[in-house]
Amino acid sequence: MTSSPPPWRATVLTLFPEMFPGPLGVSLAGRALASGLWALDARDIRASATDKHRSVDDTPAGGGPGMVLRADVLAAAIDAVEAVAERPKLMMSPRGRPLTQARVAELAAGPGPLIVCGRFEGIDQRVIDARGLEEVSIGDYVLSGGEIAALTLIDACVRLLPGVMGKLESGSDESFSHGLLEYPQYTRPQVFEGRPIPDILLSGDHAKVAAWRLAEAEALTEKRRPDLWAARPKASESGKKRKSPKFTTDG
Ligand code: SAM
Repeated sequence: MTSSPPPWRATVLTLFPEMFPGPLGVSLAGRALASGLWALDARDIRASATDKHRSVDDTPAGGGPGMVLRADVLAAAIDAVEAVAERPKLMMSPRGRPLTQARVAELAAGPGPLIVCGRFEGIDQRVIDARGLEEVSIGDYVLSGGEIAALTLIDACVRLLPGVMGKLESGSDESFSHGLLEYPQYTRPQVFEGRPIPDILLSGDHAKVAAWRLAEAEALTEKRRPDLWAARPKASESGKKRKSPKFTTDG
């Protein structure tokens, strides 16, 4: 008898487990969660506190404002997670490496991460080092806690899991999947406040539509994200012609 593999699972360590699934309980991610395509396990870090006050934080060594999450309490919470050695161990952090679609795709292809959500001034460095936590940032701004950042990361992963999105194409054509931002989208009405849908999109000529989309995606990326544009593989680099993304046109 063959048993199916366990679904992709996000285990979140947080002081606020009631924030989960939150927005992940509705729409695409919510339906997939309800049907068992992925699993979510939000655990209270405070359950690993050992003193009578169940304290999880203390003042920063060296002085300064705020509080810091204790290494011993968090390490115990991490160590209590099953199969932790085989899973990516992430910590949401504004100091972390910025999250990219490429990293999201890697995480979606694995067993699912353990995610530590910081609070206060952050987490004692020794547990980050001792448990090999990978610090991940969702942008150059500071949130009050890691939970919203974790929800963001999980949402980005879940929509890439097999069976979650209706069509495979809806993931492969999107912004960043070809190193480009997505081309502009249009739908009915044909004219909105005097602005018509570009004629080419109504032409029925799939090759021309695909070429138009590629040109628009390239122009938008060059204008808005010179960093992405500069990082694109150049035709001259390998001596070969660079393969252009082929944008789908079948409804
Ligand atoms: N003192 C920290 C610093 O300056 O880097 C900021 C701590 S922040 C108030 C509390 C927690 O929110 C962090 O430990 C982290 O888990 C989360 N957080 C805040 N901003 C984030 C971001 N841009 N990306 C990911 N997590 C973030």
